[in-house]
This record gives sequence, C-alpha cells and structure tokens, in this order.
Amino acid sequence: MVQTIQTIAVIGAGTMGNGIAHVFAQNGFKVDLIDVSQQQLDKALATISKNLDSQLSKGTITEEAKLSCLQNIITNTSLAAGVKNAQLIVETATENVDLKLKIFKEIDEAAPADCILATNTSSISITKIAAVTKRPSQVIGMHFMNPVPVMKLVEVINGYATAKEVTQTIIDLCKKLGKVPCEVNDYPGFIANRILMPMINEAIYSLYEGVAGVEEIDTVMKLGMAHPMGPLQLADFIGLDVCHSILKVLQDGFGNPKYAPCPLLSNMVAAGFLGVKSGEGFYKYDTGSKDLVVSERFRS
Ligand code: NAD
Repeated sequence: MVQTIQTIAVIGAGTMGNGIAHVFAQNGFKVDLIDVSQQQLDKALATISKNLDSQLSKGTITEEAKLSCLQNIITNTSLAAGVKNAQLIVETATENVDLKLKIFKEIDEAAPADCILATNTSSISITKIAAVTKRPSQVIGMHFMNPVPVMKLVEVINGYATAKEVTQTIIDLCKKLGKVPCEVNDYPGFIANRILMPMINEAIYSLYEGVAGVEEIDTVMKLGMAHPMGPLQLADFIGLDVCHSILKVLQDGFGNPKYAPCPLLSNMVAAGFLGVKSGEGFYKYDTGSKDLVVSERFRS
C-alpha cells in the first residue's frame, strides 16, 4: 500500500541535510534534523534561515511561510530519539560505507516498523545498506541534488529488494515537494555520479598534468558545453572529500582502475582542502569578493 508521510527524520545536517530539511519543512512536513554535532545543527538552522530570507527578498515566499517552515523543524543529537516517531528517514550523513551501515543498523532498531528508510548516498550500494536491516524491502535511495531547494531532480534508487509500493510512495512524495523523481537501479554511482564523477576527475587530471589552469578548464566547459558551472567549481561545491569517496566507490564497485581518484584530488582531501565547506579547494571562498578567486596554489 502506498503510504502517506507527514513526519520525517533527516540524519546529517551538513551541505545536503540542511537543504533536505528546508524543502520538507517548507512543504508542510514535520522534520527532526539529527546530527552528532550540535555545531552542525546550529549552522544548518542558520543556513536554512538565510536561504529563506533570500527566497523572501525574491518574493517567492511570504514572512508567514518562512516562519512556518522554521517552526516545522526541530533538531536532535540523539539518533534513537530523533527517529522514534518518523514515517520516513532520509539519511544524509558523511559518505562513508561503514558509517552508513552503522547508522542503518541503529535506525532499524529505533524507528517504527512501517517507517521507510531512505539514503541520500551519492554512490554507495542501496542493496548493501538494506542488507544490514530487518526491512530491506523498505530501504531505498533518495538522491537529492545540491543545492536542494533549487535543484529539481531526485534520483530514486531501487535496491535489489525494494518493494514497488515503497518506490511509488517515494515518487509521489518527491512530486509533493515539487521535485522531478527519476527511477534508476542500484549500480555504483547510479546515473548522476557514474557520469559526473569521471568528468570531474578528468578535469582534475587536466589541471594536474598542466594541460590548462583552473579558470581555463572551467571556462571551456561552461562556454563550450553550456554547463552552468565548470567541473572544478562544481567539485568544490559538492565537497572534494565527497567526490573522492564517490570515485573510490566507482573504482571498487566496477573493479576498474579508470575511476581511481586523481592523485591531486587525493592530496587535497588529505590536506583538508575540501572546497566551499572548508573555505578553499580549486578556488578560495573566504575572500569577501563576489567574484570567484582561484586558489593561490593554482596561480602561475
Ligand atoms: P557533509 O560532510 O557536508 O555533512 C555530513 C554531516 O553528517 C555532518 O554534519 C556530520 O556531522 C554528520 N554526521 C556524521 N556522522 C553522523 C552520525 N553518525 N549521525 C548523524 N550525523 C552524522 O556531507 P554532505 O555533502 O551533506 O553529504 C551527505 C550525504 O549526501 C553523502 O552521502 C553524500 O554522498 C550525499 N550527497 C552529497 C551531495 C553534495 O553535493 N555534497 C549531493 C548529493 C548527495
């Protein structure tokens, strides 16, 4: 039976978690936003409030809508407490397979029996995640795009055991959020990242091998291919650690070295240069300038 969902728990309040909570709350759903870090929860609420202000100034929402969206969100640092009344859980914690397996084991114990367990993973096997729970037919991928309040697509990923009614419930829910769901099957990287990440990796290789500079690579793809954002800027925006993790999943999942992360990407991640979220990646983000500023490390 297709379920009606009203109460959502979102696990992880990072880049994606705040956007996912925002979109659900703005559409009238009650959201419990959960993170191990209180600081991340505070930052997420501040980001949601700032993004609502920006919608307000563009006239796309009213002051009452802003208030009601914020009132629909509560926060929690306890996983068990946050999921106990949820009808749907959207897990969007750090892209790490062991962490996700641990979280799914825990929420399977703590959430109501009919609760659907979704993950926003960019690449990790839904089937593998589902297998650690006692309800694999109720586990599904719900892959939102960044920034969530702006991007229309949700990749809906069927694990091997996902029940058809669960897929339909999630497809209907995406439509209620004003999103466009796209159903795909569970193979490494699904569709979005199977195609996007090799392109981003190749852009990083082009920089690493000195074929061109940061701005030149991004300009070629923006003006030549009509991409709204160059691949290096996009990698910064996604998070270089996230890109690195996805490439490793593709490499391991297909057993094909063509997906191996470029050594420059591995170095940047090891050094903590993660893009927008750390303040510097291929570009620098804490300069106060409205223009994109290439990181000093890549200036000749
Ligand atoms: P992020 O690093 O910005 O945030 C991850 C959050 O998870 C952090 O706030 C961290 O404190 C929290 N966390 C870690 N362990 C936790 C736990 N045990 N319980 C609760 N919270 C925990 O990461 P992100 O970019 O938001 O990515 C989150 C997920 O979304 C990943 O699976 C990623 O692949 C996927 N995703 C990311 C993007 C993107 O553009 N960044 C796009 C689509 C999907």
